[in-house]
Amino acid sequence: MNAHFLQTPIEYLKGVGPNRADLLKKELGIHTFQDLMHLFPNRYLDRTKYYRIGELQKTNAEVQIIGKITHIKTVEQKRGKRLVATFTDDTGQMELVWFRGHKWIRENLKLNVPYVIFGKTNWFNGMYSMPHPEMELLEAHEKSLRSAMQPIYPSTEKLSSSGITNKVISTLLETLFLEAKNRLAESLSKEVLNSLKLLPKNEALFNIHFPKNQTLLSRAQYRLKFEELFYIQLQLIRKNILHKTKIKGYTFPKVGDYFNTFFNEHLPFNLTEAQKRVIKEIRHDLGQASQMNRLLQGDVGSGKTIVAFMSLLIALDNGFQGCLMAPTEILSVQHYNSLLVWCNKLNISISILTGSTKTSERKEIHENLQNGSLQVLIGTHALLEDTVQFKNLGLAIVDEQHRFGVAQRSKLWHKNVQPPNILIMTATPIPRTLAMSVYGDLDVSVIDELPPGRKDIKTVHRFDSNRLKVFRFLKDEILLGRQVYIVYPLIQESEALDYKDLMDGYESISREFPKPKYQISIVHGKMKPADKDYEMNRFVKGETQIMVATTVIEVGVDVPNASVMVIESAERFGLSQLHQLRGRVGRGAEQSYCILMTSHKLSADAKTRLETMVRTNDGFEISEVDLKLRGPGDMMGTQQSGVLNLRIADIIKDSEILKIARSYAMQVLKDDPSLQKPNNAPILHTYTQLVKFKNIWNYIS
Ligand code: ADP
Ligand code: MG
Repeated sequence: MNAHFLQTPIEYLKGVGPNRADLLKKELGIHTFQDLMHLFPNRYLDRTKYYRIGELQKTNAEVQIIGKITHIKTVEQKRGKRLVATFTDDTGQMELVWFRGHKWIRENLKLNVPYVIFGKTNWFNGMYSMPHPEMELLEAHEKSLRSAMQPIYPSTEKLSSSGITNKVISTLLETLFLEAKNRLAESLSKEVLNSLKLLPKNEALFNIHFPKNQTLLSRAQYRLKFEELFYIQLQLIRKNILHKTKIKGYTFPKVGDYFNTFFNEHLPFNLTEAQKRVIKEIRHDLGQASQMNRLLQGDVGSGKTIVAFMSLLIALDNGFQGCLMAPTEILSVQHYNSLLVWCNKLNISISILTGSTKTSERKEIHENLQNGSLQVLIGTHALLEDTVQFKNLGLAIVDEQHRFGVAQRSKLWHKNVQPPNILIMTATPIPRTLAMSVYGDLDVSVIDELPPGRKDIKTVHRFDSNRLKVFRFLKDEILLGRQVYIVYPLIQESEALDYKDLMDGYESISREFPKPKYQISIVHGKMKPADKDYEMNRFVKGETQIMVATTVIEVGVDVPNASVMVIESAERFGLSQLHQLRGRVGRGAEQSYCILMTSHKLSADAKTRLETMVRTNDGFEISEVDLKLRGPGDMMGTQQSGVLNLRIADIIKDSEILKIARSYAMQVLKDDPSLQKPNNAPILHTYTQLVKFKNIWNYIS
């Protein structure tokens, strides 16, 4: 596209003075011709249909009518005046009403000539009226570029009250298209256009604003959605490639004694095929000269921990240190305990560092990290403190990454002269399309298989009124030697009430399950870490049969003997949280259960969430529903909203186009990594422009 022309400030467009320019900038972010060209309509109205006044119905729908103004008057009312015009056709008469801008309208309205009016009608005082109609002389209407499908542009209160109506925007676009003649260059290569039979750029832009018919409109939309997604993917994939060529990582060429001894002598179970495949992918990455930047997705209980451990062994085999960072103290301790058993067998030194590590231990850890005698460090974000310096950190693993901010993660990158290899593990399955956009610059591995012998967790929904029956079931399970979680919500806004619920619940459970026959642990965020650990440990060791807790146990805790998860006020939890909580059970060979307790009053969304949980155990399926319910922004948190701020495409609805766009972007870059081939010139040019004029499309960072 002709950059100079399209980068012209919007005030230079005919019809846009300094005032309008100001409003367009403030209200719609339109600074340049290009921005206006890319102001895409939200929807289209069918304007082939004309109503007659005699046919109007009291539905308050948008209608279009041809008629004449026969009379204009000003009517005094309590609050200011209104201007009323009588509008007639040969079937009847109605009123057009204005509450603002009287003078201008009175001076410009013509009597007894045909107008096309458009707007919503009201039934008022025994007559139809249309407030603030859009109107145009029939003659002008017939001549204009505007077509049967009228685009409706995004607008704001301020714009419409300042007279920048939909029609004005349309007119500005007409002016712009007349000026732009022959200056709208193609932005995709011939190969891509032909292979997908895409509409050329200029036709697509024209038809998005002035659609000639539904077919052309659909093709225009497809082309522009494709282009938008294509350039995002191109950017992400290029970032990934650049990263690999620019950032030298540590290479771990050999798989040595630690890995082999563990694999041959100490493997606690047979690895699943998915675990083997993922370990292979990681091994391959670590053997390369470029820094590993890999995301490992695996549902709760899919066995990510052993994959993490075996990856650490490869680092150690090559003389490097490794670390594993988890979001909570409890989870760090759990990781530490699992890894400690394996490390002891292999004579590997391992420590844990959290907020509650004593100063003396802390000092020792710091020293041993720097002199290299400490090989593996587990911990919370305490690892990120500046005082924590490694001798040669080769691999950093981050567990459950959605809890860490991007900035926090990047701190790990800078623990060395050279950034360590990075493995990010997440138990929150992300729909593939979303992963492509948000993590499009990372390599992704997926463990899509659970260890053998796992039974699906039976999930049921019960109302509070059935509580006694539920308690009886819990007693039966405890009698069989099983353990039970009972989880209460803890939402920040209603923290005080939530704690009260938790304590009330704890009391009634204590009454229902009396000592000494039953022992109960309780864990919540207001307890001291030491007390929390104590209670947690009693449950882990099987000294207590019931764990009453808030969501602090959501992440990662592993007690294979626990077979029932009761979630109180389940309607208040989000889907991914429910799924995470449920993942705490079903870790042993026994049949496990999840009981979702709710009141009778449920919103439609809450019902969908509960039904989804009852229907499926598949984390990816659940994440798709979650995405539909919440939308991508909410699902990923605000930090990624930039990538998700699309102008025309929709990550959910256009997931097919996204997949195609990604595969084309990959193909183009594979064939021509630096976009130097002549046939890719339009792509290189567009890409360069996009990066240069950051304001054009806001997802380019
Ligand atoms: P997550 O992916 O949620 O972190 P974990 O690594 O905690 O899962 O593994 C869950 C449970 O499954 C643990 O008790 C672990 O020992 C066990 N496990 C992992 N992989 C296998 C396997 N291949 N065969 C049998 N059990 C396994
Ligand atoms: Mg885990």
